[in-house]
Amino acid sequence: MFPLHGCTDQELKQAVLTLGEKPFRAAQIIKWVYEKGETSFEKMTDLNKGTRDLFSKHFLLNSLTYVKQEDSSDSETTKFLWQLADERLVESVLIRSQDRRTVCVSSQVGCPARCAFCASGKKGLIRNLSVEEIVEQVYLIDRQLKKIGERVSHVVYMGMGEPFENYEAVVKSIRLLCAEGRLNLSQRRITVSTVGVIEGINKLADDELNVSLVLSLHAPNQRIRQKIIPYARKYALEDILEAMTDFARKTKRDITYEYTLMAGINDEVEHAEELAKLVKGQQCTVNLIPYNPVPGLVLKRPEKAVIEAFREVLINEGINTTWRYTKGKDIAAACGQLALQEKENSQLLNIGS
Ligand code: SF4
Repeated sequence: MFPLHGCTDQELKQAVLTLGEKPFRAAQIIKWVYEKGETSFEKMTDLNKGTRDLFSKHFLLNSLTYVKQEDSSDSETTKFLWQLADERLVESVLIRSQDRRTVCVSSQVGCPARCAFCASGKKGLIRNLSVEEIVEQVYLIDRQLKKIGERVSHVVYMGMGEPFENYEAVVKSIRLLCAEGRLNLSQRRITVSTVGVIEGINKLADDELNVSLVLSLHAPNQRIRQKIIPYARKYALEDILEAMTDFARKTKRDITYEYTLMAGINDEVEHAEELAKLVKGQQCTVNLIPYNPVPGLVLKRPEKAVIEAFREVLINEGINTTWRYTKGKDIAAACGQLALQEKENSQLLNIGS
């Protein structure tokens, strides 16, 4: 099967030719799917019945099945749960903020990073998502938004998984999301978040993509970082920071460090001072995220005064600092949480290992 959402126009033309049809049929299919939102060949009336049957047999239009969605009480966030062909589950989150419609996509089932504060990492990596499984998360949410006159404007690779552990599929999905005649997104509105896979950071800098890069830093030194992110043992923090600054220099894009504040772990004034030293002089932003409690994990969100004191240190040191309360707290918005809840509650879906 040729996966429509995972193929470039050129690959689709080639596939159509292989099936003995004229190459312009590829553009016809793309138009039906991306302009008209059609998800079945049956309705593509400018293809004759024989061609429709042939394409139905050889092209895969849907690799995700909608399971459910949950809205936060403030309606700013909607979490979508999808089932894959092998019955695994993944999730995406739509975040509404003024005129932005941002989709947070998953790039893997599970995650090898095993961050202490994240439900997705609990069981480690299960498998990589294919290009089409990534693209369809955005396509299907965009299709739903179109019905109310809205469109997806931004995409962040911050859902389940470490994007750079699935580098080729992630980069191809970015190119397809930005392709003309598809969702036509601007690369400048795409952000990739990593726990610090140096090879991926370097490759992204060389691949001439105009996307933003975020490092999930979460600690002011290697010792604490390794406790929070077991995967961090693979790379020295100083090497990761060097790769990040190289990325900023080569691409002329600012970089962001995400720092989840967890009570008693990484939230002291001394930690803030150490963090300020670490990033001082860089063209960067530190984004502070007070921890969003996850059922089953014992970590706690720091008191507001503690968060304020931490932030003040960074600001006094001249570090560009933002503070983001996690949206969608009431719909289990920590990455991976919805999939885990579904797994635990459902006897019907044969998911997980
Ligand atoms: S926070 Fe991100 S990188 Fe860490 S385990 Fe969860 S999905 Fe993986």
